[in-house]
Amino acid sequence: MNKKEIEKLEKNILKKDKSAFDYLNKKETSFAFSFAEKYKTFLDNAKTEREAVNEIIKRAEAKGFININNALKKKSLKSKKFYKIFKGKTVGLAVLGKKPVENGLNIIASHIDSPRLDLKQNPLYEDLDLVLMKTHYYGGIRKYQWLNVPLALHGTIIKADGGKLDINIGEDIEDPIFAVSDLLPHLAGKLQQNKKVSDVFEGEKLNILCGSVPLGDDKIKNRFKLGVLKLLYDKYGIREEDFVSAEIEAVPAAKARDIGFDRSMIGAYGQDDRICAFTALEALFALKSPSKSAMALFFDKEEIGSEGNTGAKSGFAEDFVLELLIVNREKPDYRTMRNSILNSQCISADVNAAMDPDFKEVHDKMNAAKLGAGICITKYTGARGKSGASDASAELIGKIIKLLNKNKVVWQTGELGKVDEGGGGTLGKFLAESGMDVLDCGPSLLSMHSPLEISSKADLYMTYKGYKSFFAPNK
Ligand code: MN
Ligand code: MN
Repeated sequence: MNKKEIEKLEKNILKKDKSAFDYLNKKETSFAFSFAEKYKTFLDNAKTEREAVNEIIKRAEAKGFININNALKKKSLKSKKFYKIFKGKTVGLAVLGKKPVENGLNIIASHIDSPRLDLKQNPLYEDLDLVLMKTHYYGGIRKYQWLNVPLALHGTIIKADGGKLDINIGEDIEDPIFAVSDLLPHLAGKLQQNKKVSDVFEGEKLNILCGSVPLGDDKIKNRFKLGVLKLLYDKYGIREEDFVSAEIEAVPAAKARDIGFDRSMIGAYGQDDRICAFTALEALFALKSPSKSAMALFFDKEEIGSEGNTGAKSGFAEDFVLELLIVNREKPDYRTMRNSILNSQCISADVNAAMDPDFKEVHDKMNAAKLGAGICITKYTGARGKSGASDASAELIGKIIKLLNKNKVVWQTGELGKVDEGGGGTLGKFLAESGMDVLDCGPSLLSMHSPLEISSKADLYMTYKGYKSFFAPNK
C-alpha cells in the first residue's frame, strides 16, 4: 500500500478521539453558551430534590404540560403533555406519541438528589459558648471537601400544628451563611500526620456553626442554644422538637459560575445529576408530535442507592405508564403496562467521571471519559467484576451510536475508573430490572460529588443534542 492509501485507510477504520469543541460551528457555539446560561439558572433554583421538582413543574406548566391527576378526571383531552409528581420529591413528564403507549416509550431517567449534609433530628447543641448543628452526610462525599465551605440551609419543616414551612437561608447575599470549621495547620501536625484521610475526617465532626449570642446570664442552662432557638421561634414559630419532623439540607451557598479564561466550563454544586435532568427536560420540551411516546423521569434517592418510596426502586415509572394508558384510552391492565415497558428503551441519564490531569492513575486511559469530549456512553457501571451493573447490550449500544452519529452528536465511551479501583452505580440497574433496554449515557464531570463540580459547556450541549435525538429518532 502506498502512503495515500494507508492514510485513507487510517481515516476510514481508526476510531478517533474528538473534542466536542472541534465540531461546534459558530452558530452552535453561541447556542451552547447561551444554553449554559439557562442551565446555570436551573442549578441555582434547584439545589435540593424538592426545589428541583418545583422548578421542573414550573417550567413544564409554562410549556403546556398538565398534571395527569387532573387529566384523569376529564372525559376528553386535548393535551398530549403530562406530568406526575410523587411526594414532592420525584417527578415524571411525558409526551404522548402517535403510536399507542403499548408500543413502548423512549424514556430518559435522571436523578435530582445530590450529596450534601443533612441535619440530624436532634441537631442543636452548644459547646464552648458556640452553637452548632449535628449532621449526617447524604451520599458519597470526601468529608474534608465540606469543611470551610460557605453553606446554605434548604429544607422543609412540618411544625407541631401540622403547618409546613420551607426554608432557604444563605443564598441571598444579605443572608448569613453557615460553615463547618477546620483545624488550623499550626496544630494539625501531631494529631493528623500519621493518620489515613478516612480517619482524619470523621462524619461525626461535620458539625455546622450557627450562633454564639447567649440569652440571659450564666445561671441559665444552655443559654447559647436558647439564644438561637429564640431567634428561630420568633422568626419561624418553630420549637426544638420541630427539627425532628424536618428535612434540612446544608448545601454550598454559591451560585453556578463559569470556569476558565474562555468560560468554557461550569463550576457548580449538584451537577451530578442535574446536568442530565436539565438536558433531558430541555430535550423533551423541544419534542414536537413524536411517533413514539416520550418520558422524562426525575428520581430522588439515587445517591443512597435509589432506596425509599421516592427512589427508582419504587413503582413510580409503572404507575405513570398505567395512567398514560388511561388518558390515551388504551387498556390500563397489567399486560398492556408490561408490554409498554418491555417495548421501551431507556437512557439512564447520569454523569461519568472525567479523567483528572492530576489523577490519571485511577483510570484506564483507553477507557476513561475526558471533559469536553462529548456525551459519554457507559456500557456498565458497578465495581469489582461489574458487580451491580446492568451491562447494556451490544444491540442497544449499536442502535444509540448509530443515532448519535446520524445527528452529529460527539460521543465518547467511559468506564468509572480502573478495574478494581472502585466504582459506583446509577439508576440504570434498577430500571433494567423491569426488563426494558437501558443504557447509561450522560456527560462527564471533574470533581464529582464535591461542592464545586465541573462540567464542559460543549458536553452540556452534546448531551442535550443526544437526548433530543433519542426522543425523536426519526427526525
Ligand atoms: Mn449521578
Ligand atoms: Mn452521584
